[in-house]
Amino acid sequence: MTFPTRIAVPDNVLRIAQKLEDAGFETWCVGGAVRDTLLGLPHHDFDLTTAAHPEKVRELFRRTVPIGIEHGTVAVLDGKGQPHEVTTFRKDIKTDGRHAVVEFGGSLMDDLARRDFTINAIAYHPLRHEWRDPFGGADDLEKRLIRSVGDPNWRFQEDYLRILRALRFSARFDFRIHARTLEALKANVSGLAQLSAERVRDEWFKGLKQAQKASRLVHLWMSTGAARIWLPEIRDTGDAAREAKNIDRLPRDPVLISSLLPSDPPSLLTRLKCSNKDIERARAIRDWRERYPDPRHLPAVRRWLAATAGYADDLLSLLPALDSSRLPSLAARLPSIVESVRAAKDPLSLGDLAVNGDDLIAAGVRAGPTVGETLQRLFDEVLDDPARNTREYLLSRV
Ligand code: ATP
Ligand code: MG
Repeated sequence: MTFPTRIAVPDNVLRIAQKLEDAGFETWCVGGAVRDTLLGLPHHDFDLTTAAHPEKVRELFRRTVPIGIEHGTVAVLDGKGQPHEVTTFRKDIKTDGRHAVVEFGGSLMDDLARRDFTINAIAYHPLRHEWRDPFGGADDLEKRLIRSVGDPNWRFQEDYLRILRALRFSARFDFRIHARTLEALKANVSGLAQLSAERVRDEWFKGLKQAQKASRLVHLWMSTGAARIWLPEIRDTGDAAREAKNIDRLPRDPVLISSLLPSDPPSLLTRLKCSNKDIERARAIRDWRERYPDPRHLPAVRRWLAATAGYADDLLSLLPALDSSRLPSLAARLPSIVESVRAAKDPLSLGDLAVNGDDLIAAGVRAGPTVGETLQRLFDEVLDDPARNTREYLLSRV
């Protein structure tokens, strides 16, 4: 690939680079934005890498936020308060598979050498319009390849998260993983066990959102063994493979997708240290994903809506991904029936009843558990026929 003579770098980023260069510190654009620009994709903000040490960066600019000072990253706020990441040239001095310990004072070449993949290790000088691509990243972009910078075995052992990053980038750009990188990746997959659940979850969720096809990311996690370590509930059965294809019909919602594939979604989400809210959601999906109502039977649909409450929409959005032989005509009919039930404003929770506990007590029901039981019985009647939801009718039934 030949590099374009120049690429458009936003003015605010240019001004930051100019100021650092004027102060005598070499400064380059690196990482995701350079890669995405070369791919012709829209991209987020340009990250800068500089010879200036973090304290120096903080001295030079009026407004900065030390977002990862131990890694040398300072956010410089522009006139509009937008942050731009500026990171000091780093070299790795020590690693334990979970965190790289970095040292400042390296050169641009050291900094590029510690980056994960060749396509992420291309630098562009925003003022001189020069390129540095010591590892052939541009060629790999052209060949659509994910390839480790340096010896893949060693690079994965330095930081096992790079294994999951390789899978994510592969699914995101639909790039192959280079043979030697893939071989090392598989050989080191058991090292993933050392990572923290939070980092793994972030990678898995980000990957599901960014992948061109979520099914490809799932396939990569399964075929390399990464799923076996962190997502063992997703079993490599024929069923799982079929459903994995169907997930491309789902909205890009990582919790929803993670709740369809595994045998026991809440256990998977608990391992990934997801929020209680997400785990509850997964639990509701597990409990209901094989118990859809018959759309021809309105009371059953109302009962289902009342019981699934806040999770009904999740369950509806799963329908297109469920095995359709198992659920004939459901996917086609249930959503519109639900819509009509909702449009009719049929009572779907106890709170929608035309009477409340006080009304029952005034009508002679003894205070205590009987009140709740009676309300529930009345609610059942109303779910069968919403026309019964009047004060007169319900009190007449007490
Ligand atoms: P995205 O568009 O997802 O943000 P990105 O390439 O910008 O993609 P980041 O996670 O933001 O990815 O990281 C920025 C850059 O930092 C990467 O392009 C890569 O050069 C480097 N990098 C990030 N994480 C690692 C890692 N674990 N090991 C080595 N280099 C890394
Ligand atoms: Mg980025």
